[in-house]
Amino acid sequence: MKKNDKPQSTAVIGLQWGDEGKGKIVDRLATEHDAVVRYNGGANAGHTIVVDDRRISLHLIPSGILYPGKKAIIANGVVADVEQLLKEIDNLESQDIDTAGLVLSDRAHVVTPYHKAEDARRETLLAREFGEKEDTGGIGTTRRGIGPAYADKAHRAAAIRVGDLLRPDQLRPLVARSAQLAHQDVREDPDLPSPDAITDRLIEIGELLRPRITDTSYLLHDLQRAGKRLLFEGGNATLLDVDHGTYPFVTSSNSSALGIPAGAGVSPKSIHNIMGVCKAYCTRVGGGPFPTEIQGELATTIRERGREFGTTTGRPRRIGWLDLVALRYAVMLNGIDRICMTMLDVLSGIDPIMVCNAYEIDGHRTERFLPDARSLESAKPVLISLPGFTEDITGVRSIQDLPSNARHYLSYVEEHAGAPITLAGVGPDREQTIEIS
Ligand code: GDP
Repeated sequence: MKKNDKPQSTAVIGLQWGDEGKGKIVDRLATEHDAVVRYNGGANAGHTIVVDDRRISLHLIPSGILYPGKKAIIANGVVADVEQLLKEIDNLESQDIDTAGLVLSDRAHVVTPYHKAEDARRETLLAREFGEKEDTGGIGTTRRGIGPAYADKAHRAAAIRVGDLLRPDQLRPLVARSAQLAHQDVREDPDLPSPDAITDRLIEIGELLRPRITDTSYLLHDLQRAGKRLLFEGGNATLLDVDHGTYPFVTSSNSSALGIPAGAGVSPKSIHNIMGVCKAYCTRVGGGPFPTEIQGELATTIRERGREFGTTTGRPRRIGWLDLVALRYAVMLNGIDRICMTMLDVLSGIDPIMVCNAYEIDGHRTERFLPDARSLESAKPVLISLPGFTEDITGVRSIQDLPSNARHYLSYVEEHAGAPITLAGVGPDREQTIEIS
């Protein structure tokens, strides 16, 4: 495929541990697609998009919503905190953003107050086990109930799907069963409303969402048949994929491109172009191994310059050098066609810039990633030093105008990642992007 081909369907996938700046890329690509689709995760996947100096944070709604006339589709693979969804809709509407294009799968699973309480209960318990002060005690979830909602989906007996909100007679016994099956601490949590109150509220929300609820799988196929172009937006990122990431410090869905067919009800053959987004360095939120992690002043500089604080939780992100072993793995796993590297501007003034090209494990060198937290824990990064650049590049719009060391950095990464870099981010604004043909 040539770099400038315009295929029918595209996916945008995070290649690291999330927060790569996918929102901005999806938002940019949305102009040339007819529908933007979320297929995994829940309200734990925050995107921040800057439009006309306004920072708009989206947690559940696909970023295509910012374009009037586009469909923004929340597909079956998502677990939807419907209360949060209403808040997000209200927030967008209060900023005069039209939400008419937002559609929700009747088969998406509903995150209930029980799921959130269970998530918090487990994280607190784990953190206590590892010592109160240690942030890495839990899995590092955002306590939004995502994991417990997926667990209930697998358990089936008490799972609630969006379509159930429109069937009060079925919903009431389902909520009652959720309460019955919940852990005693959750069941007896004085802050939780009664099962009847939860049901009443879910029925109310169902009525508010009714016009948006549909079978999104048929909708997507109808759109494809009509020649419309779909854009799949990955929530979270490849190294957080429940099967292929750094388990157990992962999210609870298939957040790589491998989750698209199941999470949206489309054929793997219908995804024509898979775009991977990575930062010029690495970040990670919460616990889990991070071979290239850096500490101290340098980490603080990068964190502050890159505004590396979680969109959903405000937690400071851990900072590390670019890990090419992990990046190559993510490119391979997803079948990435093109890479967008964001945050190149953040590295300005950092000299040298280090990258990790291999790991050393028990004295042996390997260029292969270890998608398992306990194995990856023992990997020591083999770092290579590349020359840095000092110029402010936030105003640069063409590759020729980048300092030569920045260009060299891009070509080094491209060579070692295994896919061409076709976009480079030099600032948070939509316009601060360099196209590389
Ligand atoms: P996402 O979840 O992958 O969309 O990432 P987030 O939205 O959580 O984080 C990306 C943050 O970086 C947002 O605040 C963006 O506005 C910002 N951002 C995106 N690309 C760039 C870039 O190239 N340079 C800088 N400095 N910031 C960027």
